Amino acid sequence: MRIDIITVLPELLRSPFEASILKRAIEKELVEVHLHNLREFSIGNYNQVDDYQFGGGAGMVLMLEPIDKCIAKLKAERDYDEVIYMSPDGATLNQSMANGLSLKKNLIILCGHYKGVDQRVRDLFITKEISIGDYVLSGGELAAAVLSDTIIRLIPGVLNDETSALTDTFQDNLLAPPVYTRPSDYKGHKVPEVLLSGNFPKIEKWREEQALKRTEKLRPDLLE
Ligand code: SAH
Repeated sequence: MRIDIITVLPELLRSPFEASILKRAIEKELVEVHLHNLREFSIGNYNQVDDYQFGGGAGMVLMLEPIDKCIAKLKAERDYDEVIYMSPDGATLNQSMANGLSLKKNLIILCGHYKGVDQRVRDLFITKEISIGDYVLSGGELAAAVLSDTIIRLIPGVLNDETSALTDTFQDNLLAPPVYTRPSDYKGHKVPEVLLSGNFPKIEKWREEQALKRTEKLRPDLLE
C-alpha cells in the first residue's frame, strides 16, 4: 500500500511514522507513506497556499490551485483508489471503514487547515470525506495520522501476531475482553483463575463471555 498525505505542516506528521508499529511496517516495505508539503505547489512570490474567503468572514481558506497541482502530479504517476479529505463534517471513522481502506493500494489523504479548503477542491477531487469524531481540530494532520495508523495496522504482516488485529475491540462489533500479564498475584490482586488453567477451550469461552458482558455494559449500541 502507498499513502500520500498532502499538508501545509509535514513536520506535524513525521513522528507518528517514525516509531513502533508504523515504523516497522514502513521498514518491512508493507506500506509507503509520502508527505507532500503544499507550499511546494504554492503560487506567486509569497509561497501562497491560502487566501481570505469570498463574502468575508474570519479564517483563511486553502486555495484550489496548489491542491490541484499537487493532486495532478500524484495522479500522473499512478492511479488512486481514493482521494480522502479529512473533515469534521465527513463520515465518522469506524473499524469497518478502516478494514475496507486497508485493502486499497493507493490513497491520497488531504489535510485541511484554517477554515478548510475551497469547496471546489471537494467537488472536483475528493472521493471520500472522513471525520475522526464530532469535535474540531486545528488541522487535518492529527486526523490523517489517526486514519493512517488504523489502516496500516490492518495490513497483513504489520502486526507480529497476525490474529491480533482480529481480536481487537470492534471487530465482530464486540469490545475486547480484559487482558492480564505477570505477576499473577500483585499484592493480593489476582488474575482470573481460568487464564492460568492452561485449558484453552475454557479460556476461549471465558473471553467470549467477558467480551459480551463488557459490550452489554459499556456499548450496548454495538449489539443492536
Ligand atoms: N471550518 C471547518 C473546520 C476547519 S478545521 C468546519 O467548521 O467544518 C481545519 C481542518 O482540520 C479541516 O479542514 C480538517 O481537515 C481538519 N479537521 C478538523 N476537525 C476534524 C475532524 N473531527 N476530523 C477530521 N479532520 C478534521
